[in-house]
Amino acid sequence: EHYLERIQRLDGELNSFITVTAEQALASADAADAARARGNVGALNGLPLALKDLFCTRGVRTSCGSRMLDNFESPYDATVVERLAAAGALSLGKTNMDEFAMGSSNENSYYGPVKNPWDLAAVPGGSSGGSAAAVAAGLVPAALGTDTGGSIRQPAAFCGITGLKPTYGRVSRYGMVAYASSLDQAGPMAYSAEDCALLLEAIAGHDPRDSTSVARGVPNYRDELSASLSGLRIGLPREYFGEGLDPGVESAIREAIKVYEGLGASVQEVSLPHTDLAIPAYYVIAPAEASSNLSRFDGVRFGHRCENPSDLIDLYKRSRAEGFGTEVKRRILMGTHTLSEGFFDAYYKKAQQVRRLIRQDFLDAFEEVDVLMGPAAPTPAFDLGAKKDPLSMYLQDVYTIAINLAGIPGISVPAGFVGRRPTGLQILGPHFSEQHLLNVAHQFQ
Ligand code: GLN
Repeated sequence: EHYLERIQRLDGELNSFITVTAEQALASADAADAARARGNVGALNGLPLALKDLFCTRGVRTSCGSRMLDNFESPYDATVVERLAAAGALSLGKTNMDEFAMGSSNENSYYGPVKNPWDLAAVPGGSSGGSAAAVAAGLVPAALGTDTGGSIRQPAAFCGITGLKPTYGRVSRYGMVAYASSLDQAGPMAYSAEDCALLLEAIAGHDPRDSTSVARGVPNYRDELSASLSGLRIGLPREYFGEGLDPGVESAIREAIKVYEGLGASVQEVSLPHTDLAIPAYYVIAPAEASSNLSRFDGVRFGHRCENPSDLIDLYKRSRAEGFGTEVKRRILMGTHTLSEGFFDAYYKKAQQVRRLIRQDFLDAFEEVDVLMGPAAPTPAFDLGAKKDPLSMYLQDVYTIAINLAGIPGISVPAGFVGRRPTGLQILGPHFSEQHLLNVAHQFQ
């Protein structure tokens, strides 16, 4: 009731929710009370949460921030939604996002932009901007986001909260509307690493319905939170402290690293030599996968259908023209182009080769150090409407995107402010090092 009242009072301005499910939430809260009375409690019993609006929820609209799915109700729950419910959590609703998770500012949503609760003139980041803003504003204690190229970590940084992108394959993608299937991963967004640990424990693990989910045990992610960091070897990627990094963000990150030195860690510079190829490789691979994934939205099987089509081709064309926004169309065009005969080898295949080199950069770095640290984004949150040209928006992802291409986990933790706007320290580790990343993040907090 506390959180629903805050949503009611504050979200008219913030716009962080697309759908609020107050009645279902109150019914689930009663069920949680009853479970507690019976002594039968899950780890998250009665915990209110919000879900980015691309997790399928039975009986509750899943819009993906798009007019295309404005009327879509899934007949089933995503695996992560099922798992959260089984742990006793209850959803307060579905959060705003960039359409089909394409964006870094939440300005590409059919439902309008979200405002940053720290400064209403600023964007909350994207694409999980609604989840980040809702947590930062205290509308909900935790939320789920997804991260294809930074969409958990960058909005977490912009809104001053903690956000974890797990290793690719750690969390089931079943029931998540697909953007780029080889990169997409769901993860927790909350105040602290400890809260993220609790949520990750509930959602992680093998799912036979997602063939890319990994059959590997799920540790108790809270067990090692307080382990000593004495002797921790921190690498600072030279390429993450170069041109384009805001001086205020840089000094906040350097201060954070001093805290770790104070905890007994050693710091050395490392190199990720293919960093400058990450944005071009990603913006070939992600749109290519998106153009394929989004072909299912044809006006027949899902979502928006145009009025009075003259024939089937007219139905496809007008339904897609009306249902998708500008950025989504741009990505479908780019992806279709790079996958087409005659261009495939030059673009898509080349990008996949570059992806392998980027992954190897990280594997080599983790031979020398235990974790990498740097900024989550090159600047603090920018003003709403400030980035009109798509390329300048894509450059926001410079420190986050390579991590998805490599499949490794990353966490952004609040690292102070530049003026009124928060900034985030990004911590990266080898595949399946979530427990260690949470330990390192927790010690900072
Ligand atoms: N900004 C990136 C994009 O638009 C990343 C988005 C994401 O992680 N979903 O593709």
